[in-house]
Amino acid sequence: MEMNLKPILEKADKRPIVIAGPCSAESEEQVMEIARQLATQDVDFYRAGIWKPRTRPNSFEGVGTIGLKWLKKVKEETGLKVTTEVANRHHAYEALKHGVDALWIGARTTVSPFAVQEIADAIEGVDIPVLIKNPINPDLKLWIGAIERIHKAGISRIAVIHRGFSTYGESPYRNEPRWQLPIELMRQFPDLQIICDNSHICGRRDTLQDVAQKAMDLNFHGVMTETHIDPDNAWSDAKQQITPATFKELMGSLVLRETISKDADFLENLEILRQRIDQLDDELLGVLGRRMELVDKIGEYKRRNSISILQPSRWNEILETAVEKASKKDLSAEFMEKILRAIHQESISHQNAIMNGEKVLKKANS
Ligand code: PEP
Ligand code: MN
Repeated sequence: MEMNLKPILEKADKRPIVIAGPCSAESEEQVMEIARQLATQDVDFYRAGIWKPRTRPNSFEGVGTIGLKWLKKVKEETGLKVTTEVANRHHAYEALKHGVDALWIGARTTVSPFAVQEIADAIEGVDIPVLIKNPINPDLKLWIGAIERIHKAGISRIAVIHRGFSTYGESPYRNEPRWQLPIELMRQFPDLQIICDNSHICGRRDTLQDVAQKAMDLNFHGVMTETHIDPDNAWSDAKQQITPATFKELMGSLVLRETISKDADFLENLEILRQRIDQLDDELLGVLGRRMELVDKIGEYKRRNSISILQPSRWNEILETAVEKASKKDLSAEFMEKILRAIHQESISHQNAIMNGEKVLKKANS
């Protein structure tokens, strides 16, 4: 589906879009104090959850509509734009009524096409930016589907928030980043702004900076970080929240790189190097193609002699030799194994096709 996506905010320089504020609005004082401290920094949107989607009942589920009055006060007193999470029609109406500047759709909502459609219908034709978090499971189509639903409702200022994907078992992350998903989204939708929610990816304070830096290095357009005046005593997500002062340090430490250079020499050299890479990629493809022709031939011999496709000893030998050679070329064993496994898999499918007669070699004897 062709989409006409516009930035939720245009920044004049390379600085990222910055969204900060508490996981949850807890009281008017808490909301206002955090806002006052963030207003002195380079913050574009003040975030606070009013309705909290909690995994299990009996945890704090948000202050509800009253919190929207506090957000209105934040706008009036500090001039910060405000954003909150909406998960159904009622939330959307209430947020619009109270002048919230941008809506975000949470990870537990993006998974549900019914819920996303309900929100899309509720805000149809309203010119408000909408930020869509990734679904909790690593399903790119579901994420894109939510973007399409909101876009079909006539909204073009859409951005996405990468908050990581749910895992089971041990992990250094609360939600695994699986960077290849947002990268693929960027490839498919070059005009879509992507914000990194390092708080929900990390689930802890000590890795927030690393993840934000990684996002900047991957040309993400912004960061969303949970900030609280008293993080340890926050009513939700206490472990990952940081104070506005720590947030300021974190943002100050990020290295921001230019995506485009205007230096002619640099561009020329880059072009030359890229052409050489393109050439090597072509050679790689050629070699892979020729390798596969040999694989096909072997498949045909095996078929005629009724020998099984997989010969573990031969496969082990290939793997071990390649890993050893790779280490001399500064290629990691992990990388080499991954590549070889992919090649091996493809070879097996080729030989399978030959064994089953799905593929017939033109010149089996040559
Ligand atoms: C949040 O931003 O506080 C939140 C509930 O996030 P997520 O939807 O990513 O879990
Ligand atoms: Mn949170």
